[in-house]
Amino acid sequence: MTARFKCGAPTLIANLPGLMAVPKQRQSHSRTNKRRSQHKIEAPGLRHCPRCGAPRRPHRVCPNCGTYAGREVIVQQPGVDSDDE
Ligand SMILES: [Zn+2]
Repeated sequence: MTARFKCGAPTLIANLPGLMAVPKQRQSHSRTNKRRSQHKIEAPGLRHCPRCGAPRRPHRVCPNCGTYAGREVIVQQPGVDSDDE
């Protein structure tokens, strides 16, 4: 493939099909394992709802009472079990 370099040539070459960035050197097992040592599941952060006290995720509507920032976002149906009534 013949490429004529003018301004913007690197961008042009990067967008050609079949050409992509390739790692210069092989990554060692040690380096790979060091990176993967941080891969783990964390427990979700839970805070207590200020209205009913049930645990809920931060910045989300309370699944128990349906309120967010002091407002009732999800109207509770009568007959649905709720702890705060
Ligand atoms: Zn609540």
